[in-house]
Amino acid sequence: MVCPSKKRPYLSKEEAEEALIQHHIQFHHREGQGPLNVYECEYCGSWHFTSKGPISGVLTSDTARRRIQKERIAMDWERKLK
Ligand SMILES: [Zn+2]
Repeated sequence: MVCPSKKRPYLSKEEAEEALIQHHIQFHHREGQGPLNVYECEYCGSWHFTSKGPISGVLTSDTARRRIQKERIAMDWERKLK
């Protein structure tokens, strides 16, 4: 289904949160920039990113921060080796 928001739809909150983490790993957003949270859309019923509102706990928890840091370093290495 195409959403009037034109945002990419995710089927569940979990899927959207995982994609949000991946997004932050790939795009090196500065603190408080880029998409910060996910929300359930009132138009299409799926989940989207939002850059407004409080930052999601999936990005601020220690586990998430460590994971983002680690996967970024791994990705930088992959780039260098190519
Ligand atoms: Zn929508």
